[in-house]
Amino acid sequence: MAGEPQADCLFCKIVAGEIPATIVRETPTTLAFRDINPQAPTHVLVIPRVHYPDAATLAAGDPGAVVDVLREAGEVAAQEKVDGTGYRIVFNTGPGAGQTVFHAHAHVLGGRDLQRLV
Ligand code: 5GP
Repeated sequence: MAGEPQADCLFCKIVAGEIPATIVRETPTTLAFRDINPQAPTHVLVIPRVHYPDAATLAAGDPGAVVDVLREAGEVAAQEKVDGTGYRIVFNTGPGAGQTVFHAHAHVLGGRDLQRLV
């Protein structure tokens, strides 16, 4: 069921503490941890604790959780001290856009020059 933990979901396992992660922030509704394959000096994933496959289904099913994820992305940027220079929040959505883990997550990237994408 939407919102319920999924047995085969990597990020649900991180939420449950079954797989280790380098956690940088926690709230009752979100978790922020370092990406295992960082693409920038700061590369943190912010996820809702609830399981939805991507950002759009999260927004439809639990809009408040989207706000929580975005607020935490800003808090991570401030904690990592990349808020002054600028940072990027990315939601890859669907395999064609590079999404590989189907539990909604925001990438928070900073600490290097980020070329304009669009
Ligand atoms: P996506 O490609 O779905 O937008 O992002 C998934 C991200 O999860 C990738 O950047 C990948 O490096 C990261 N990732 C995959 N497996 C793990 C893991 O076991 N631990 C952590 N911390 N990150 C992971």
